Amino acid sequence: MTETDLFETIRGQVCRCAYDLKLEPDIEAILKMPMREFHFSIPVRMDDGRIRAFQGFRVQYNDARGPTKGGIRFHPDETIDTIRGLAAIMTWKCALFGLPLGGAKGGVICTPKEMSEGELERLSRAYIQALCRHIGPERDIPAPDVYTTPRIMAWMMDEYSKIAGQTTFGVITGKPIPVGGSEGRLDATARGGWYVIAEAARDADVDLKGATVAVQGFGNVGSNAALLGQFLAGAKVVAVSDSRGGVLNHNGLDVQRLLEHKEKTGSVLNFEGAGNITNEALLELDVDILIPAALENVINTGNADNVKAKIVAEFANGPVSNEAEAVLGKKGVAIIPDLLCNGGGVVVSYFEMVQNLNMDHWDAADVDSRLRKMMTSTYHAVHETARKKGFSLRQAAYTIAVRNVVEAMAARGWV
Ligand code: GLU
Repeated sequence: MTETDLFETIRGQVCRCAYDLKLEPDIEAILKMPMREFHFSIPVRMDDGRIRAFQGFRVQYNDARGPTKGGIRFHPDETIDTIRGLAAIMTWKCALFGLPLGGAKGGVICTPKEMSEGELERLSRAYIQALCRHIGPERDIPAPDVYTTPRIMAWMMDEYSKIAGQTTFGVITGKPIPVGGSEGRLDATARGGWYVIAEAARDADVDLKGATVAVQGFGNVGSNAALLGQFLAGAKVVAVSDSRGGVLNHNGLDVQRLLEHKEKTGSVLNFEGAGNITNEALLELDVDILIPAALENVINTGNADNVKAKIVAEFANGPVSNEAEAVLGKKGVAIIPDLLCNGGGVVVSYFEMVQNLNMDHWDAADVDSRLRKMMTSTYHAVHETARKKGFSLRQAAYTIAVRNVVEAMAARGWV
């Protein structure tokens, strides 16, 4: 593959805004670099008694608008460059939604599927021990991401609290409900994404009832995207996939039963009444809406030409490579960009922080109506900017986000 890496792609988005926002080259340079990075080795006692050193990272990209915020990924192919790119996306995402937060991202190179629960717990706690001086409700607030769960967030919050000598719920979001978690956080990314798709569909005069949908990825975001596609939007989910492969039924899949099947067998493959397909084939299906909900750069120069979906809704971060975006654009495929489409996760994380800091607990209906309002109004702001300036939704979203960060930097006297 000849794809530009994620960090380079996101830096390119900032360059694209420079002319419209009349950015000084010095300011543009600040926006294209992370402010702080932590690289550390994390020794963990494994179940066989041996010590293994894992490599961990945290990138605090820009904190002009407030404490930095963003998830932690546990993935075997993690790289510092990807984490930098993802931390930059978090900066623009929080700014786009007007949250009083900067952007960050963390990661550990590991294979969680091959680790026992005890090993995962020791790794999670050790990650926090390594980083504890640099995070906190007023510094940097981690959250779940690829292969990290509410359970892991609870261990991390607990470890930080033990070190601080006081229960500090607000240090981490995406926690289980009994330890300061928010109602609605688990499916917030997917729910927020469908609120945006609903608005975009209305603008494009597309009826979501019965629209065909394919979802790549069946983790927290992908499985909820499929479930809500069926139950919230009334769409027909014809295909989903996980890391082992996918299943297809042109008449629609029963997503609830598919979840039970995955729970039992460990994969979506061999689901009754559906045919098996590869992950690659899923991305090329002739559907109304394609939802990549797994990893970055899955739509790239190798397959962009074969994408037949009318709308690509980026529930993952960075799933369409820079080069693929140009190909899809020429084909008239509409892209709903990640920083807008998957912002529901960090929006409800922000609600979780606010509840923690106020010792409060909002009910599910309250969280949902606030989420819906923020997703809808942000979509319309982006759509309006795109229409006025003749930009893509991505360029419009970046223009709003970068402007918000630059205004904060100017107000603080940084530039
Ligand atoms: N990992 C999610 C994202 O990429 C959520 C981050 C958060 O809740 O802080 O947006």
